[in-house]
Amino acid sequence: MADIVAEGETDGTASLGSDVSRGDASRTPQSTSSDSAESVLELREVTSGYGDLEAIRGVCLTIRPGEVTALFGANGAGKTTTLLAAVNMLPRKSGEVLLDGRPCRSSLHAMSRRGVMFVPCAPSIIKKLSVRDNLKLGRGGVDDAVAYFPELEALLRRPAGLLSGGEQQMLALSRALATRPRALLVDELSLGLAPLIVDRLLATLSAASRARGVAVLIVEQQARRALGVADRWHLLANGSIVESGVAGDHAALEAAYLASMTGSVTTK
Ligand code: ATP
Repeated sequence: MADIVAEGETDGTASLGSDVSRGDASRTPQSTSSDSAESVLELREVTSGYGDLEAIRGVCLTIRPGEVTALFGANGAGKTTTLLAAVNMLPRKSGEVLLDGRPCRSSLHAMSRRGVMFVPCAPSIIKKLSVRDNLKLGRGGVDDAVAYFPELEALLRRPAGLLSGGEQQMLALSRALATRPRALLVDELSLGLAPLIVDRLLATLSAASRARGVAVLIVEQQARRALGVADRWHLLANGSIVESGVAGDHAALEAAYLASMTGSVTTK
């Protein structure tokens, strides 16, 4: 499955360069209600899964321009399923996905033309192609992509399969960001990566969200790190959202996480 499925917008030349920083309290949203701000993508009471298995049930969440939303949960809680359902890669048993406030049943390919990009947890790069050619496939512009991660400049001619795990994630993220998405969904970008690289990737997502108004949804196991950049968060347990919060709600998340592990949670 390709993480970059269609061309994005290529107009404009502004870039973030390396001017990225961690999220901060000044981004704190005032509310977790789903109708308090404009939404790019919304899941409304979505139930979805695999065959007879309902891996998520009645999930509601909204991602908004300029905000990073983090989705947490234990293994098997339904995080990846939520992302797949959000980009219509899984059939829904009930509920709706809304894009710009309207029901959307389009393929991810069609959604990407409307600015929705999805980076799966195993980013699909074409290993035999150079970094430059992989970036060209994203059609967002090589220079724009490299501006997000200047480290890639020196690697442009290298076959992508020879990049480290962190560099491959940089490639996948920069390729998606260079298309100027309005919504970017990223599944477990930290998988197998060193903490410093994870911080770097999260900081870039946060900066893109803030500077370009991208609505970002990240699935992340490293909750503490992700909370450093998240404006909002939701905790999934057994396929349902059991707790939600805003930036700085560390104690609430820790308590809810612990409760979800011990099974003493109620579905919200
Ligand atoms: P992890 O953090 O381990 O990746 P997750 O929170 O992303 O977990 P999902 O991958 O969404 O969880 O899985 C939710 C449930 O759906 C789990 O019970 C899982 O076993 C099941 N599941 C996931 N993919 C499939 C599939 N292709 N076929 C059948 N069941 C699946």
